[in-house]
Amino acid sequence: MNPNLARELQPLLEQERHRLEAELGGIATKDPRMVGDWDARMPDTASRDTNDQSDIEEQADVREEYETRIAQEQALEERLAEVRKALERIAAGSYGACLACGKPIPEERLRANPAAAYHIEHEPESASA
Ligand SMILES: [Zn+2]
Repeated sequence: MNPNLARELQPLLEQERHRLEAELGGIATKDPRMVGDWDARMPDTASRDTNDQSDIEEQADVREEYETRIAQEQALEERLAEVRKALERIAAGSYGACLACGKPIPEERLRANPAAAYHIEHEPESASA
């Protein structure tokens, strides 16, 4: 593969990592026990008025918002892990090789998704890139 591609895409991956960490920081707290793991925070209810009438509705809203956050948090965390692994592969000099077959991933695919770890046809079902 193009030897300059990793150098070219590295800053994009660094940028994305910072953006993902900032987004995660807005809705979740880093789990101090596990590197790369985040826990969604309960939405802040302090600023809402809490008269008895709206209280139950409020709680339902908060729960719904919390569930949305958990889903967002998981998607961001997964993406962050992919980006981080791609940066590790750049550091290790193995960037751009498909993790399934070891052959180079096409340059257009890496440009479209610098964190791609597989050929399109070798992408595991669970991963969404
Ligand atoms: Zn492959």
